[in-house]
Amino acid sequence: MLRANFHTHTTFCDGKNTPAEMAEAAYRLGFEQLGFSGHMDPTYHMDFPAYRTEIARLRAEYAGRMDILAGVELDQRWLAQSVAGAEYVIGSTHFLTGADGEDAAIDWTFERSEKLCREVYGGDWYRMCAAFYDEEARVAERTGCHIIGHFDLISRFNHEHPAFDEADRRYLKPALEAMEYLAATGCLFEINCGALNRGWRRDVYPALPLLKALNSFGASIIIGSDAHEAGLLNGGFDEAVRRAMICGFKDTCVLAHGADGGVVCRRVPLADCLSAETERES
Ligand SMILES: [Zn+2]
Ligand SMILES: [Zn+2]
Repeated sequence: MLRANFHTHTTFCDGKNTPAEMAEAAYRLGFEQLGFSGHMDPTYHMDFPAYRTEIARLRAEYAGRMDILAGVELDQRWLAQSVAGAEYVIGSTHFLTGADGEDAAIDWTFERSEKLCREVYGGDWYRMCAAFYDEEARVAERTGCHIIGHFDLISRFNHEHPAFDEADRRYLKPALEAMEYLAATGCLFEINCGALNRGWRRDVYPALPLLKALNSFGASIIIGSDAHEAGLLNGGFDEAVRRAMICGFKDTCVLAHGADGGVVCRRVPLADCLSAETERES
């Protein structure tokens, strides 16, 4: 199985478990690397120095047994300078601008998204999606990220509350343009299992058609559970690996500390990432 996760939340932001509890659970799962990625955005912004201190403490505690990295999930509407010293950055887009001019989260509830769509985009979901992808296309430049987080978060509620057709050209065109633009930056794209492992969606981000396109754009991937609790640290990994293989990817990336202490990116064949149980099934 894949023994690493780099999208991990804790009680420093909106997670249910402390960093120490997450590290213990990861170690029990046999993880080789665990990357923390607390939120820094208009809603949740951690005490970043305290967070770094705690992750550094855990890194020392697990030295030689499991490699621990201090990353961050930086929203493009938050201050990039506030996360100086983060070992890696997941760049995410969680907000559009509401009718009141304030940041409006697009992933909280369907009702809030529907209200935003009605008030700002005249009820036209395709216009709202296009605005989202216009914003998403800027995430690398605004955050200086290494990883593009949950690329198509705008589709968060679309399985439970179908509001637009993800196969419609009005949806796909802006999505693919943003994706191709971001792929050219060399950022890794996250396959994010957060909505799948919490039962919110039947798919990972990016959804299968976008993931196929991502492969054709030559981008590299990194798999993340977006765990907000210890029990979901590897939640959805097998599904993510299967989908990546279907889309033609051969390997996924893991981050680790190199010999000089800097963070390096290593490629792991996807064929080695399925859990033993899944291998027996197939
Ligand atoms: Zn996020
Ligand atoms: Zn997250």
